[in-house]
Amino acid sequence: MERACDNCAIPDDELVLVRRVYVSPERWDTSASEQVVESPELWCVSCVSQYPHRAVEDPGVIDEDGQDEEHELR
Ligand SMILES: [Zn+2]
Repeated sequence: MERACDNCAIPDDELVLVRRVYVSPERWDTSASEQVVESPELWCVSCVSQYPHRAVEDPGVIDEDGQDEEHELR
């Protein structure tokens, strides 16, 4: 079954589990900040390369080395 990217809704079979990050740019009265969204989303490779995000560190998903870019998501 094909899944779609949670960000752009384009179907893709190479989706990556990430947490979206909202970046607030620096202003004259506040410094730049990032807000990480709690619930993980599945993004396509294109979105991952274009938008700020955090890798999801889920022990049930990540491989032994923990650094693989392509997990088996079940
Ligand atoms: Zn996408």
